[in-house]
Amino acid sequence: MTLTALGLPSVHRPLAAQPAPTSGPLIDTFGRIATDLRVSLTDRCNLRCTYCMPAEGLDWLPKDQVLQPPELSRLLRIAVTRLGITNIRFTGGEPLLVRRLEEIVADASALQPQPEIAMTTNGIGLARRAEALAAAGLTRVNVSLDSVDAAHFAAITRRDRLGDVLAGLAAAKRAGLGPVKVNAVLDPKTGRTDVVALLRFCLDEGYHLRVIEQMPLDAGHSWRRGEALTADDVLDSLHGHFTLSPDPRPRGSAPAQLWQVDGGTGTVGVIASVSHAFCGACDRTRLTADGQVRNCLFATTETDLRELLRTGADDDAIEGAWRKAMWAKAAGHGINNPDFIQPDRPMSAIGG
Ligand code: SAM
Ligand code: SF4
Repeated sequence: MTLTALGLPSVHRPLAAQPAPTSGPLIDTFGRIATDLRVSLTDRCNLRCTYCMPAEGLDWLPKDQVLQPPELSRLLRIAVTRLGITNIRFTGGEPLLVRRLEEIVADASALQPQPEIAMTTNGIGLARRAEALAAAGLTRVNVSLDSVDAAHFAAITRRDRLGDVLAGLAAAKRAGLGPVKVNAVLDPKTGRTDVVALLRFCLDEGYHLRVIEQMPLDAGHSWRRGEALTADDVLDSLHGHFTLSPDPRPRGSAPAQLWQVDGGTGTVGVIASVSHAFCGACDRTRLTADGQVRNCLFATTETDLRELLRTGADDDAIEGAWRKAMWAKAAGHGINNPDFIQPDRPMSAIGG
């Protein structure tokens, strides 16, 4: 794939020969600046979505390898005060399985300059915690929901928990964690009908639907090009039922291409991570639950900040290692290249 196809300029990388900067924004050799930090709080989950986890689950990270709240707190402080991170999104695994989540959110929210704090969750348990999370400083949630049909939902997630997710969504709306977004990864068999019902449901409830193309990040490495539904398939399925027109607002670094529905009664976003990669506008850096920095979802190398933390490294050393990790970010994910290698870690262990 060419750089142009990735949305990157087809020019050389004038910065490539230089070492990573020691101050300023968190930049890579293509000039992209990371301001959005995705933090995976745990690799554990209470669902088993087919495109993410095997039915039997995975070998979870041993407890002593997972960052302790004070370690995480230190890394978040470095990210915000030294590296220019303005947005933090907690994810997992399932972040609501973390007992001290409210404390972690409150801690991050107290940083200056105050970052915007969001969470991606499957919504199970959110009904009980949405108020407390909002009070702690959480501002927005994305709740993953792939079908509003209970049987389809159970087939996709291998758990009969649709009611819990819907209750979580409603609680998020009541708690003001909005705009509440719904993330959907469509099943190749039922997705074409699921997406129509999902959009109707989201329009009725005032949630913003974002449909994400399935990516090769499943633990079983069973993703096959040609089987997963593409952004074009999604739009085709919706066109028969809704009038969609391109949203005129500039997209910036947002991964979703937005469409206005039926003349503006709502919007739907389609994230074409595979068929129309948007790596050229990527502004993300990632931290796994065991303290590894990843410069891309699809990176095959990681930088171990936990080891630095636990061997007495000072803030300068940790900042330097994080900068160096991001400096080495590749042009794009390479899914469409013949020599693409799927990362060892599945999505649940990276943090989507
Ligand atoms: N458990 C939480 C949830 O499901 O929202 C947070 C973690 S989950 C890994 C984050 C997001 O990644 C979810 O919206 C999920 O649908 C998405 N995801 C997981 N595996 C994926 C894959 N193979 N391709 C595309 N998206 C995926
Ligand atoms: Fe769990 Fe989220 Fe993966 Fe589903 S997508 S198995 S909810 S981590």
